[in-house]
Amino acid sequence: MHTDVAIVGGGPAGLQAALSLSRIHRRAVLLDDGTYRNATVSHMHNVLTNDGTPPADYRATAHRELAAYDTLTVLRTRADEVEQTGDTFRLHLANGSTLTAAALVLATGVRDELPAIGGMAELWGDLAAQCPFCHAHEFAGGRIGIVGTAPAAHLTAMLGPIASEVVVLANGEALPDTWHGGADVRPERILSVERHGGGVRVTLAGPDGVRQHEQVAVLFVMPTLHQSAPFAAQLGLELNPSGGVRIDEFGRTSRPGVYAAGDMAHQPAFPMPMASVVVAQAMGQLAGITAHATLMAAGR
Ligand SMILES: Cc1cc2nc3c(=O)[nH]c(=O)nc-3n(C[C@H](O)[C@H](O)[C@H](O)COP(=O)(O)OP(=O)(O)OC[C@H]3O[C@@H](n4cnc5c(N)ncnc54)[C@H](O)[C@@H]3O)c2cc1C
Repeated sequence: MHTDVAIVGGGPAGLQAALSLSRIHRRAVLLDDGTYRNATVSHMHNVLTNDGTPPADYRATAHRELAAYDTLTVLRTRADEVEQTGDTFRLHLANGSTLTAAALVLATGVRDELPAIGGMAELWGDLAAQCPFCHAHEFAGGRIGIVGTAPAAHLTAMLGPIASEVVVLANGEALPDTWHGGADVRPERILSVERHGGGVRVTLAGPDGVRQHEQVAVLFVMPTLHQSAPFAAQLGLELNPSGGVRIDEFGRTSRPGVYAAGDMAHQPAFPMPMASVVVAQAMGQLAGITAHATLMAAGR
């Protein structure tokens, strides 16, 4: 199968790239293996006209809208490998087939590595999250926990006006120089976290081996981000220090013909991906439009 633009990723970035390319009747194939970053989130927020919409509903609406365009093909499969021969990209798909394209829009997102604390993965996206814009308002007036000391100063300042109290659960880490107070601090190592009383019970390794508990409404955690897919490495794309693919203002990567959007990429001016649905959509639109404009300029 051959297409003009292969879009890898069916989250907000890839879906919007697909819509922009479809609107201009540019042939495109959207690949989606169904592993979304916000898969465990029941309601997304800070998305105008979709504040509180379940992410699955958002994606279903997007696919209904995209179905109106016959220049777009959606393949619900994984791409495993990409290679470039001349000005053609070849994607090897998990279903055994091959897709060639004149341009690539990568929108494969990131994978969150959570702190190694028992029970954290079960809470992730619900009673544990990373973004105060997305997740704090629903817990207004509650006692909010911050896990780890690296984000403590920043998150304490962000969450202070929303929470009744903020507690930093240092998990054995030292407080950084940027720490100026504003929250209780529990220095102990965190043994586990679990659902309890509508919120989270945190079990701490107290002195002399006696376990202690903290009850909070929700936890804020800074995960370590990893590329979800191997394509940045396979294509030798330049990365930012964060590990995000380096792009310019138009979504162009360091390799001509390859564009990137969403959480997997950011401009060097940003310290990390500006991870949100709206930003990912905007980046997807830019990457899609730039891919189209570049092909058009080349007479393709
Ligand atoms: C817990 C949590 C809560 C959040 N809440 C909010 C919120 O309330 N509001 C908000 O604005 N943002 C929120 N976010 C951030 C938001 O989810 C991301 O910014 C957004 O999903 C990024 O979109 P994306 O398209 O870059 O990636 P994703 O949505 O992660 O999509 C990646 C896509 O790539 C596909 N893919 C990956 N590898 C392959 C491959 N090899 N082959 C084929 N397809 C592949 C996946 O299947 C998927 O379709 C939250 C994030 C987390 C972790």
